Amino acid sequence: MSLSGRRIEVRGVVQGVGFRPWVYRLARRNGLSGRVSNDSRGVTIEAFGSDRELDAFLDSLVVSPPPSARIRELEWRRIASEPPSGFTIAESSEDGARRVSIPPDLPTCEDCLTELLDPQNRRYRYPFINCTNCGPRFTIAREVPYDRAATTMAAFTMCPSCQAEYDDPNDRRFHAEPNACALCGPRLTAVDPRGESLSWEEPIRHAARALEAGLTVAVKGIGGFHLACDATSPLAVQRLRARKKRDEKPFAVMVRDLDAARRIALLSPGEETLLTASERPIVIVARRNGCPVAGEVAPGNPWIGLLLPYTPLHHLLLLETERPLVMTSGNLSGEPIVTSNAGALERLGPLADALLVHDREIESPCDDSVVRLVAGRPTVFRRSRGYVPRAVPAPRPFGRPVLACGGHLKNTFCLGAGDALFLGPHIGDLDNLDTLEAFEEAVDRLERFAGIRPEVVAHDLHPQYASTLYARGRTECTPVAVQHHHAHAASAIAEHRITGPVLAVAYDGTGYGTDGTAWGGEILLAEAGGFERLATWRPIALPGGEAAIKEVWRIALSLLDDAYGGDPPLESFPMFARVASERLSAVRKIGASRDTAPLARGVGRYFDAFGALFLDRPESRFEGQVALEWNAVANPSESDAFPFTVDRDGALPTLDLRASVRAAVAAFCSGAGPSLISARFHNTVVRATEELLRVAAEGPARTPPVVLTGGCFQNALLTESLLRSLGGTFRVLLHGEVPPGDGGLALGQAIVANAVSTGGGT
Ligand code: ZN
Ligand code: ZN
Ligand code: FE
Repeated sequence: MSLSGRRIEVRGVVQGVGFRPWVYRLARRNGLSGRVSNDSRGVTIEAFGSDRELDAFLDSLVVSPPPSARIRELEWRRIASEPPSGFTIAESSEDGARRVSIPPDLPTCEDCLTELLDPQNRRYRYPFINCTNCGPRFTIAREVPYDRAATTMAAFTMCPSCQAEYDDPNDRRFHAEPNACALCGPRLTAVDPRGESLSWEEPIRHAARALEAGLTVAVKGIGGFHLACDATSPLAVQRLRARKKRDEKPFAVMVRDLDAARRIALLSPGEETLLTASERPIVIVARRNGCPVAGEVAPGNPWIGLLLPYTPLHHLLLLETERPLVMTSGNLSGEPIVTSNAGALERLGPLADALLVHDREIESPCDDSVVRLVAGRPTVFRRSRGYVPRAVPAPRPFGRPVLACGGHLKNTFCLGAGDALFLGPHIGDLDNLDTLEAFEEAVDRLERFAGIRPEVVAHDLHPQYASTLYARGRTECTPVAVQHHHAHAASAIAEHRITGPVLAVAYDGTGYGTDGTAWGGEILLAEAGGFERLATWRPIALPGGEAAIKEVWRIALSLLDDAYGGDPPLESFPMFARVASERLSAVRKIGASRDTAPLARGVGRYFDAFGALFLDRPESRFEGQVALEWNAVANPSESDAFPFTVDRDGALPTLDLRASVRAAVAAFCSGAGPSLISARFHNTVVRATEELLRVAAEGPARTPPVVLTGGCFQNALLTESLLRSLGGTFRVLLHGEVPPGDGGLALGQAIVANAVSTGGGT
């Protein structure tokens, strides 16, 4: 029988996920000889056998790879060389440019779960069980290439049984870097808030009882600590809320399994798939009426963020108690997530009644990711644990390596080099020194992991953002300032690998414009290398600037004054009756001067203002709260809209909603409820956007695809309605793995910086 040889190159997430041993077993099963090795770009296989055997082998490679592997590209060609005897796993080679070879953290697999609950197994109830298909990865890595000595598992010496598994290519723990057992691996302990050991023989069982008694337990996880409490107990949730100083922002809830999730929420098949996906994100779903979760978990919110257990410790804890558990990031509001045991005692000690800690260190902080199904597709709102550091393919190769520093709120950063973009973990709002420090450390780390030395640094156009100041401090790099909404548009361009221009509908709360004012209702004709602004929204004055974003009644007042030429029917709104008249006139005075009341075009500000007026909500307790509630209340079966105009006299076509404001007020005064007014408001935004796009697309053959980008497109109702109404005229593209909000900004900045610094277009 004649043997042929093939060289197969596989790219994607194929390292640290059990790919080589799986190839090894598959090759042996197919009777092939040859070798498999990791290299800087993925995995290379040289296989020898009959053509029939080789074809079967290739089919299996594509059809049934290990669960956490992601094959992005597979190429093969024939090779003529002497077939070796047998099949081997070759040592890794460090050829060429280094690329991140560390996979994202992986949830406990079915095999490990079975062993975890099997009293005969040597890892029965061992909370750190893992294998080549599961366990921590990114968060324990200290250096590359990813092997045990370069992880926080280096501190643990494997016992003979674990070592034998690790060395055996036929074992499912072959080269599972965090491999461990109760004899040799990390240990779980329970301590009180002062760090004194609690003499709990079964820490998990005791913790479960404490939770059921209404106490708060800090739990060390994969990318940081969680604060946990009984999600069915209003008292327990209120207590945690008060301690965390987190007024009304929703908490995520962890449930034991899909059945438990179904009791809390109405799940579509797509949502169930998301809940069980290997990223194990928090999935935002519709809460069931009368479900057992306390309303205090997400006050005034019809949705709830659910997630399934993703570590053995979570599984054991959730099996121990019947209750769904609040699992919120272990931090004080506004601070970065706590990762070290010492940090937990210092910062979470005062918040928790007990702490479940262990001695496996977390090297990289990584918050839970957040995803929602929008128009039937997963849209990532926060891309962090489970995704990071998986690359997003670049639409065009990078000339020089780029670091993009992101925006101010919900910051992430991004590294781009070669054909890959690495979006870093969620950092948070860069409002304080701790968060900024976490940002700098995360940048350092990912540069090291990816082997990227940035030569270009991209930042937001806003001169005062902490991320901008950091970028300007990287004096070894060429700086490129990127306009906020251009970056949003570019993030969509990158995600969809578009080469030509797009019509970008960029709607969000705020972003620094090229004219120094706050933009956020923009229609842009954009490509990576530049943009043209084609239309915008009429600005609203924000009396007191930032203060108005919290005290949204000020924006509402501005909106009314503008719509009624200074004499609105304030008496129709109880909200204003509660404000002292001197305060009202003071705010109006502030509002009249551009020095104290900057103009803002953000669509998010319109949501704030309408929500404030018609829900009687004078204040926003967390970013976007009132806008979110205004979205939530809309009755989707209403089809009417309010009147509006597009002013085409000025340099730029401008959407004017003053007639909408008056019509909404009239409806309100004649007894219409918020669900009707909100629905009509949403419909108005949809029709107005359609009109703006019609105006923008006039002229010479402008029919590029439309992208919907910016934080407003976390609003599923708005996104889905717009998709439906535009779908007939335009090709409309939505965000998927790259967040539509500011969490995706850095990725767009990187694309723009690459295009600008190499002088090219897209
Ligand atoms: Zn496993
Ligand atoms: Zn062991
Ligand atoms: Fe934005």
